[in-house]
Amino acid sequence: MNFLSTIVTFDNLHEVRRLFHWGPIIALSVIAICSTMAILDSIIWYWPLDTTGGSINFLMLINWTVLILYNYFNAMFVGPGYIPLGWKPEHQQDTQYLQSCRVCQGYKSPRSHHCRKCNRCVMKMDHHCPWINNCCGHLNHAYFTSFLLLAPLGCSHAAVIFIMTMYTQLYERISFGWSTVKIDMSAVRQVQPLIPFSVPAFAATLFALGLALGTTIAVGMLFVIQMKVIIRNRTSIEAWIEEKAKDRIQHYQTGEEFIFPYDLGSRWLNFKQVFTWSGTPKGNGMEWPVHPKCHQHTLTIEQLKQKADKRMRSVLYQAVEDYNGACCPVNKGLQTFFRTPCTEEPRIPLSKGDPILATRGTKYVHSLVIIHLFQDINVADSGLRVRGWFPRRCVEKCHYDTAASDGTSDKKVN
Ligand SMILES: [Zn+2]
Ligand SMILES: [Zn+2]
Repeated sequence: MNFLSTIVTFDNLHEVRRLFHWGPIIALSVIAICSTMAILDSIIWYWPLDTTGGSINFLMLINWTVLILYNYFNAMFVGPGYIPLGWKPEHQQDTQYLQSCRVCQGYKSPRSHHCRKCNRCVMKMDHHCPWINNCCGHLNHAYFTSFLLLAPLGCSHAAVIFIMTMYTQLYERISFGWSTVKIDMSAVRQVQPLIPFSVPAFAATLFALGLALGTTIAVGMLFVIQMKVIIRNRTSIEAWIEEKAKDRIQHYQTGEEFIFPYDLGSRWLNFKQVFTWSGTPKGNGMEWPVHPKCHQHTLTIEQLKQKADKRMRSVLYQAVEDYNGACCPVNKGLQTFFRTPCTEEPRIPLSKGDPILATRGTKYVHSLVIIHLFQDINVADSGLRVRGWFPRRCVEKCHYDTAASDGTSDKKVN
């Protein structure tokens, strides 16, 4: 058990429910198909185990599978690390620099964000990954990134096996028969395999090759993105906050200089924050080493400024039709029905007369808008904030609103 628990962390085993989701089911199926086919192909049809090359090849295949699954399950079950429910900073005066989370009933520590899928505030949240059905954040960043590196490496190896198996089998069979011409490849099994390479075996190998090549390209690109995040010590959410900070400073000409606080100035130092020999990243996930010109709350203060700015630029709407919150509403016109966004984000039911303060919208693209809904716009601070979608035609802009008069045409609506 001790040995096993060093391989898989059992602490979070109750998280096993995360497996029952389309993401892990597809990801594990791809891993299973590629590994099984690569092992079968190399044992039965391509490479004999009685040569050194063949044995190394076989051990490498097993090795990829074990390493990929190890990092995959750790990324899923160790998870990103969550901020304790009801968390407060050590010093009461620091609360003024932090955003609070209504769901977790506490403050959001620096670099944490609330994930609606996990329903918790996540340490150094980068994104919620459907393939591990968990967030990628502080504690599992190294496991996640290692998985993104190992999966393309393993799949490339498998792809070579698939191609060589098909090449040798089809070459011998179609062009020259079993005994007439030999391929100049010393390690190839020279005798007929135990099981003939039949049409189903060919189809399965070809299918696995497609999966392996697709995975190599897609996951390889994700690896490059995550490595950029790590060596810059800047999550994709923080990159977006930084962009908005520059935009805000330029828009208001405040003359501030925004320095991203968590980039330690050296790629190697940033790398070592995430990848350590123990497997656990540096830090407690709530306090972070920062740039000499910054302090612990540089970024959270910027986030608060952006929030205030966003509210100021929001637009007041009023619901003019009822909407029951259906995913693809049938009674709201063909446009709305066919252009309903393909997202799992919630739909917001509306009752005629509801005031809506929209701070975010893609209304120029879709006939539905993403908005923030406040129960009472006069007390927006304490109002219920909901993020989601509803048919564009169910709301009308209020003309008596002055704060928002220039907000709609502003490209800074995010
Ligand atoms: Zn939260
Ligand atoms: Zn999440």
